[in-house]
Amino acid sequence: MTQHIFGKECPICGQISYYDKRVVCTDDGSVVRRVIFRGDDGKEKHKLFLKCKHDSCNAEIVHEEDCEDYV
Ligand SMILES: [Zn+2]
Repeated sequence: MTQHIFGKECPICGQISYYDKRVVCTDDGSVVRRVIFRGDDGKEKHKLFLKCKHDSCNAEIVHEEDCEDYV
């Protein structure tokens, strides 16, 4: 089963922001994504640089995610 949405707690304000992998794992440039691991089978793991969605915060949230099915 593929789950598109994940929640991530902000280390600054403590609130949880929700992100859709169909959005944050794409190549449109809105989210910085770096490949941090590539297995022998070509599987990739990514580090995403997200922004906290709570207005007065906007802190950077680093999240590791397997974006392979979305890229
Ligand atoms: Zn925050």
